[in-house]
Amino acid sequence: MTATTQTAPLFKRIALIGFGLIGGSIARGARIQGLASEIVATARSAATRARVAELGIVDRVLESNAEAVAGADLVILCIPVAASGDVAREIAPHLAPGAIVSDVGSVKGSVLRAMAEHLPANVHLIPAHPVAGTENSGPDSGFAELFINRWCILTPPDGADADAVEKLAAFWRGLGANVEIMTADHHDKVLAVTSHLPHLIAYTIVGTAEELEGVTRSEVLKFSAGGFRDFTRIAASDPTMWRDVFLTNKDAVLEMLGEFQEDLSKLTRAIRRGDGEALFDHFSRTRTIRRGIVEIGQDEAAPDFGRKHAALQRPAE
Ligand code: NAP
Repeated sequence: MTATTQTAPLFKRIALIGFGLIGGSIARGARIQGLASEIVATARSAATRARVAELGIVDRVLESNAEAVAGADLVILCIPVAASGDVAREIAPHLAPGAIVSDVGSVKGSVLRAMAEHLPANVHLIPAHPVAGTENSGPDSGFAELFINRWCILTPPDGADADAVEKLAAFWRGLGANVEIMTADHHDKVLAVTSHLPHLIAYTIVGTAEELEGVTRSEVLKFSAGGFRDFTRIAASDPTMWRDVFLTNKDAVLEMLGEFQEDLSKLTRAIRRGDGEALFDHFSRTRTIRRGIVEIGQDEAAPDFGRKHAALQRPAE
């Protein structure tokens, strides 16, 4: 599937603050789709800024956040969520009146509160979360197709300007995403179960295997195709990003974790009691969830995530 090409640029100048997987993917996609007349970027470290300049994806790489946002009609923070408040405070005096200020953080309530506190009344704060990603980070990890057919959730605060919300939605649709609008608190609850809890479980299980007595590390790696390796992809996700997610979406994650622990106890009891019917019923219900994800086009139907399997060699005649 490809995203439709814009006829006229939606924005005069987009400023990307942070250039990792998400910032880099936005830059690549926006450039291909012609969503802005100019794309400028900055990043915290000189090393990343130098690499972004080398990649040649954006029109200009600027040294500071203040310089980057000057004259921009769309500013997107593509940085860890815990840094959003400080960066909002830093850019606030330099923002152009009427600019849309957004972000891509995986948590929305805390980001909205942290940024709103600092921004002037003459800009439009519209937080966003593209529900798309990989376990890779850094300026080289982005790709233009990342958002195609994925959802981008916008969480405008009460009273947000409808035209500004629609303009940002059009931008994300231009990158190939489907757009949904909800409150920040609802977003955090939904994502706690669809993203944050699965990451916590993956981080836990991979850590458990690592520390297990009586099973060697080489055995864990060697026999990982039994299921373990699918958790390792998620558990390889960026430690800074995920530390921030759990610190900033604490309440919703703890609520979901409580539900999860209850369900785990039920399954533990079924195993202990040899209750095959309970296990079979539970596993049958979960199987339909996987089918549902494939049916709505959020994953491939190919078995084993479409991994390639080596061909058997015919024995020599
Ligand atoms: P990334 O590849 O690690 O890039 C992070 C960028 O933020 C880098 O340019 C980094 O600068 C900069 N940065 C790090 N700490 C900073 C700080 N304290 N102040 C200012 N800049 C800082 O991360 P990413 O995967 O693109 O994630 C960025 C945001 O997207 C996060 O909020 C995350 O929750 C959200 N998100 C991620 C995914 C995913 O799957 N990865 C999916 C959806 C949303 P340097 O390179 O100079 O250190």
